Order: sequence, then C-alpha cells, then structure tokens
Amino acid sequence: MLSSLLDLQHEAVSKLRGVGPALQQRLLQLSILTTADLVMHLPRDYQDRSVITRIADARPGMMVQLQARVTEVRQDQGRRRSLAVTVNDGSGFIILRFYHLTSRQLGLSPGPLLRIFYGEVRSGAGGFEIYHPEISDSSAQLPASYLPIYPITEGLNQLRLRSLIHQALKRMRADHPMESILHQLHTPSMALDLQQLRNFRHPLQQELIIEELAAHQISLLKLRMQTQQRKSLCLTSDPTTQQRMIEALGFTLTRAQTKVIGEILADLQTGHPMLRLIQGDVGSGKTAVAALVIAQALHAGWQVALMAPTDLLAEQHYQRLQPWLSPLGYATHFLSGRSRPRERLLLQDHLNQAAPCLVVGTHALFQDDVAYTRLGLVIIDEQHRFGVHQRLALRDKAMPGHEAHLLVMTATPIPRTLAMSAYGDLDTSIIDELPPGRRPITTVVLSQERRHDVIQRMEHHCLQGHQVYWVCTLIEESETLSAQAADVSVQELRDSLPTLRFGLIHGRMPSAEKQATMRAFALHELDVLVATTVIEVGVDVPNASLMVIENPERLGLAQLHQLRGRVGRGSIDSYCVLLYGTPLGTLARQRLSILRDSQDGFIIAEKDLELRGPGEVLGTRQAGLSRLHIADMERDGYLLPQAQQRAYQWLQQPEDEQQALLQLWLRESHHYARA
Ligand code: ADP
Ligand code: MG
Repeated sequence: MLSSLLDLQHEAVSKLRGVGPALQQRLLQLSILTTADLVMHLPRDYQDRSVITRIADARPGMMVQLQARVTEVRQDQGRRRSLAVTVNDGSGFIILRFYHLTSRQLGLSPGPLLRIFYGEVRSGAGGFEIYHPEISDSSAQLPASYLPIYPITEGLNQLRLRSLIHQALKRMRADHPMESILHQLHTPSMALDLQQLRNFRHPLQQELIIEELAAHQISLLKLRMQTQQRKSLCLTSDPTTQQRMIEALGFTLTRAQTKVIGEILADLQTGHPMLRLIQGDVGSGKTAVAALVIAQALHAGWQVALMAPTDLLAEQHYQRLQPWLSPLGYATHFLSGRSRPRERLLLQDHLNQAAPCLVVGTHALFQDDVAYTRLGLVIIDEQHRFGVHQRLALRDKAMPGHEAHLLVMTATPIPRTLAMSAYGDLDTSIIDELPPGRRPITTVVLSQERRHDVIQRMEHHCLQGHQVYWVCTLIEESETLSAQAADVSVQELRDSLPTLRFGLIHGRMPSAEKQATMRAFALHELDVLVATTVIEVGVDVPNASLMVIENPERLGLAQLHQLRGRVGRGSIDSYCVLLYGTPLGTLARQRLSILRDSQDGFIIAEKDLELRGPGEVLGTRQAGLSRLHIADMERDGYLLPQAQQRAYQWLQQPEDEQQALLQLWLRESHHYARA
C-alpha cells in the first residue's frame, strides 16, 4: 500500500531495502533520517542523457554524450601527467582526458563501442577534448527522462542515492499536489524545460520554494503569536517622567522618534511581552528613544538590561545614559566580561534589593552569575548579527520565571520582504527621519594614488578645529593582502603631520586602553583617530567631520554605511573619503558609487541586495534562514512576497495540517514553533 508524504515522515530510512547502519550513517550526513527526507532531498542539477551527439557536431562549451570506439591510448607528460584516450565515432575523433587514473580508465583499449557520458567539450592542443567523462558499455537503453543530479556525500554516490530515492518514491502516493511535484522533480519528463530546471526557475520548483519559504515565515509568525499569549509586567506610562527625560536630553524629539516611543509604550501596556525591532538609519537617534523607554520602565519599578555587542559600545551607552538618568534619581551600572569580582558582587547586591536600575553591558549581562529580581525590559543594541534562535536563547536565559519585554535596535536597514523572513517573529518600528540640522555627508571615491592629497586635506581640516577618523581594514600588515595596517598608517601619518595629535584604536587592545583613547578623542585631546572597524557601530563624536576609509572595497556596503555614519553628526559639513586600492573591479566600483550617490540606508541596502543577494545584506549568521531544502535566499528572494501570501493562507488551515507541513520543511528547528 502506498503512503502519503506525511506518513513517510514516521518511517525511518532503515525500513528501505539495503539500508544498513553504515548507509544510514551516510544518509544522516545529508540530514536524511526518514523516507520523507529522502523524497525531499531534491536534485541540485539535471542532465539530458537522452541523445547521442555526433562528434562532428560537437563544439566547445556543449555538454555532450557520445558513442564511440577507442582508437588510441597515450600517456601525456605535459605540465601534469595525464591519460589521453582518443575515440572515434566515424564522424570524427575527440580526446578524453583523465588526470586522476582509475583502473577502469587504465584498462581502456581499442575495441568495443562505448557510451561516453556527459562532459563539456573544450578546445585542446590536438583537437577537442572532454575531461573526466563517465564511460560505460553502449548496451544500456537511453533514458526517457532527464537525469537528476543530487547533493551527495562521502561514501554515497549518485547511483546509489538515486536508486534509494526511487525506492522511496515507489512507496509514496501522488494525491497531494506536493507529492506529485516531488515525483516529477525526481523523474523529470523530457517535456519539461531543462533550462528552467537547471536554474531553479521551473514552476514546479518555484512552487516548492514558495512553500518552504512560507513554512519558515509561519514558524516565525507562530512564535510571535505564542509570545502574545504569555504574561509579563504591565506598564503605566508617566507623563512627568516623559517630560523630565526630554528636558534631560536637551533636544526636541523628531516626529519619528515620538511615534516609535508611542508604539513601544503601547506594547508595554498590554500585559504581554513585547518583541519589537526598531530599525533606524545610522544617526536617527535610537539611543534617545531607548532612554525615554528606559526612564518609563524605571519609573514603573523595573530593572532594565541594555546589551551592546562590544565593550566599547557598552561603555559609550553607559557614558551617555548615566548622566541622563541620574538627575531622575535612577542608578546606572556597567557590566562587561572584564568587570572585577568586587564590582559584580556590588551589582548583584543592588539587583537583589529589587531596586529599579539600568544595567548596561555586553553578553556578560546574561551569564549565569547575574540574577535579576525584577527584570522588566531587555534592550539589545545593534544586534543585527543575532538570529531568531539566539534571541530566544537570550530570552530564556534572561528570564527564568517571568517574561521580560524585548526591544531590539538595529541600524542595518532590512528591505521589507527580507525583514519578514529574518525578523518575522518581531514587530517592527521604523525611525524614518533624521534629527534636524544634519548636513549631508559628501562622499568621494579616490584611489590610493591620491593618498598624499588626502593627507594634506586632513591637516587643513584639523587646523580648522575639526576632527578626523582614519579607518583601516586590517590590524597588522599582511604580506598577502593589500590592506594598509592601522599601526603602519598611524606611524606614517604621524611622520607626515608631526603637529597633529593621533590616537590609535583597534580590537586587540585592552579594553581600558580603548576606552581611554575614545574618551580623549571625544574631549578633543586628539585630532585624528586611526581605527579599525571597531568604531563601526554607535561611536558618537559630533566634532568629527571627516572620515577616510582605506580599502573600502573590502567591506560590505551596509558596513561602510555604518562607518560613514560616525561623521555627519554635528552641524558642520562632513566628508567621507573612500580611498580604494587599485585596481578596482567593475562590481567594486559600482558598489562604491552607490555609497557615493546615496546616504539613505534603505536605498543602499536595496541596491546592495540587487548586486550581491540577501546573504550579504543580512549577514551569514541569520539563523532561521539556514537549513533550507530547496529555497536559496540569494537565488529566490524574488519569491518572498508570494511566500508571504502563502503563509497567511496556511494560517487559515487546521492546526494539525499546519504542524505536519511545518515539520516536513523545518525538521529540527521546528520545535521553536511549538515550544
Ligand atoms: P543612532 O544610535 O540611531 O545611530 P544616536 O542615538 O547615537 O543614533 O544619535 C545620534 C546623535 O544624534 C546623538 O548625538 C544624539 O544625541 C543626537 N540626537 C538624537 N536625537 C536627536 C534629536 N531629536 N534632535 C537632535 N539631536 C538628536
Ligand atoms: Mg546607536
């Protein structure tokens, strides 16, 4: 009797003929545990082996299958030793070339008619050649469908895997549309468009891709719905606190900031945990938004944890928030991996008293030795490097017993469709406006040959009382890479401009030293800060109005945009010089000009998406998007809107059907949607 795809999920592969423990182990390498997994293991490519090409018709670049006899076998010495086997089919000859020799190839000799499988025709010195084709006798029937090529693994070849998948297919019905599609994709009829199949653009493939992307979105949406059912502290916002905090800030909030604060405070009043993402371009004033929300939380008697990705940033947040909050009578603490045991004890003491306070720090905030007694709100700044699963882990770790509200702030603008996939479990607020009075940053793209001019311009800039960031893309000089090292640069710059005051900051320095240098720069005790990309996020010195980035071609556009956002923070004209290493490729040139022509993070992200695909825009560590069966975010991003629609349709289906389909597509990550 035939089973449905869903039934096959409960059938271990060991049920199939010929699958013993060793083979089972190899299948596991491909994440294949059940018969359903086998039929969900989709071809990565297709070949047409239904036709025999006459050698006379073969041309370079063609993929061909031939039927011919060996006429000569010769060992070629050449640059690399190889075996050259000349074959002739009566219409002409062609050379089969083998660099790695098996006994089968060494046994080739003039005589019988052979079937020579599939290879690309190339031009060689003595005529056309094919490298490493498969060879068999010519008796086998030509297939009536395209040949699927699967992802394989050590100890499991195409032939073996193909026969296993066929065995599995024979056990599966084809009632459900998806079952029928799987049958067709594993045994593709010659009526299908081969080119579409090979490019994953065939409607059958697109259907599965949409389904898979939709499954991921649903799992995120479900996560969100579950969160909305849980209980958490409920906040009543206090107008006086709001007023006093705005006075402490010393500026008027933008319309966008006010709107976002309103959205957050509304979340905090529902009694259910907030899961909200604030997207705001570099310099849009996310910290001020956080400050107002923090003040409200403290007023409500909560403890608040604010986490930044680096010591440097955490320290900066501490420096800014502490003076804002202290006039309101609230304590701000700092905690990093480097905090001394005594400081930790002191902090723990405060926390134990259940007094409202803000703790600013790094990951150390959520280590086991820190226990909050009334944690109401967790804020994570610049955490675009986190994925869904990491967020959940953090939430679990932070709040045994009760659920805190979570606010995530990112400056990496994420195009809407992608945000849906990457952050579908979060509500989103966008700060779509910069504080008034900002001057645009003039960006120029120059080659290293103009380095001397740039240095002179920098001197001029400093003599006018302004400050400069000089950003290098590597810490130490490297023989193989052309990037200039920061310590070499600072030496060179000091030599050419002895009257200016230089500081150096990079990731390998002790944290105290970094912070001291940063403070000196903020106090204008330094004119030029030579730095690596450690200053990428959050650093805020309004008087710094020129940034020189060496070898910008090494960095992603989002990262460059972040870096550039360190200038243009005051009311003076700001400049960014992208000092590229020569020669610069076409794509690199295009990318740098996007940055030169736009200062809008969203536009930059969209363009970068077009040029490089979502992997680059989102970063590779976005959990929740990994482990895809057939979809590929780079290739299939254009199907995301349809996937989103499909996800909403699915949510109308009975719960058990949804769960079954989620389980099919999501495998082990599925438990997040159920937890
Ligand atoms: P982000 O973290 O979004 O990049 P910040 O919160 O660091 O931006 O703010 C950038 C700068 O703008 C800071 O110096 C901040 O004090 C200032 N700022 C923020 N909001 C306003 C505002 N509404 N009016 C004037 N300046 C503001
Ligand atoms: Mg910031």
